[in-house]
Amino acid sequence: MIDRYSRQISFPEIGEEGQKRLGKSSVVIIGCGALGTIIASSLVRAGVGKVKIIDRDLIEYHNLHRQILFDEEDVRSQSPKAIAAERHLKKVNSSVEIEGVVADVHYANVERLVTGADLILDGLDNPETRFIINDASLKLKIPWIYGAAVSSSGMTMNIIPGKTPCFRCVFPSLPPSGVIPTCDTAGVISPAPFIIGCLQSAEAMKILVGAEKINRDLIAIDVWQGTFRRLKINPRQDCPACHGKYEFLQVKFGIRTTILCGQNSVQVLDPKVESISLKELAAHLKSLGEVSYNESTLRFIVDNQEVVVFPDGRVILKNSLDESLARTLYTKYIGT
Ligand SMILES: [Zn+2]
Repeated sequence: MIDRYSRQISFPEIGEEGQKRLGKSSVVIIGCGALGTIIASSLVRAGVGKVKIIDRDLIEYHNLHRQILFDEEDVRSQSPKAIAAERHLKKVNSSVEIEGVVADVHYANVERLVTGADLILDGLDNPETRFIINDASLKLKIPWIYGAAVSSSGMTMNIIPGKTPCFRCVFPSLPPSGVIPTCDTAGVISPAPFIIGCLQSAEAMKILVGAEKINRDLIAIDVWQGTFRRLKINPRQDCPACHGKYEFLQVKFGIRTTILCGQNSVQVLDPKVESISLKELAAHLKSLGEVSYNESTLRFIVDNQEVVVFPDGRVILKNSLDESLARTLYTKYIGT
């Protein structure tokens, strides 16, 4: 494998020792959209030993302009992003242990999903899950790299438990929904997530090989304006997470709905449900509407509504932003 990595080993800050460290490392990438596909591609090619890729969505045509691992065939076959990313990347580097996980990361499963990793990488499209990751990172003492991009701009920051300020030192509380621009409302051009994903990948390599100069600032870039800013972040004295109070791991909620960025869809999740047998559900639903399923998804069409069910218990109502309709359909047909 030396030959594969020869150009990377020639870079003195990596060297043979650094390459060995990368090979022994394990990372979790949460979210496999534009940021996640860049990060996963970089780190699998770089020879990181284990790469777990977690994502809850299916691939759609409007993802292809920026999500570099996917192609039109993935859209036609309705592949979950995590599974398609695993399939594509195994062809790139068969020596890396790659695991695609189709799941929505929430307070009840985050610790199980990240335990054992040396580093967590943020490829998410929503702020709420970042607060959950921040708490899990500090609690389990696993560093994470925040990254976000929308429109022509993006931000990134390293969070090293016990050494740097955390995400809640910068963003004390969850913003009200609708306040933050999303890919739906503000659009996005690919260079913004590309450059942020590349910075996250470089910082990941540095952290994994034990480099001395880890970035401690919040970096903010606008590719359209051509600006690159570094913002000094100070620890916040009253930050609950930095003082061992992990509020986002304690939030208990029942069935919840989320509008999915850019998909004209609503997700329904009951954190108490850990898995669903698609085969059993299909047998139960077949007299009520049109049902088809494979090992990763079940589609159900009823009352002119299309519902997709995943084995981890999540349900997506397609072509609708009606959260109460999604909840009703979930309770009526899927929920226990
Ligand atoms: Zn903090």
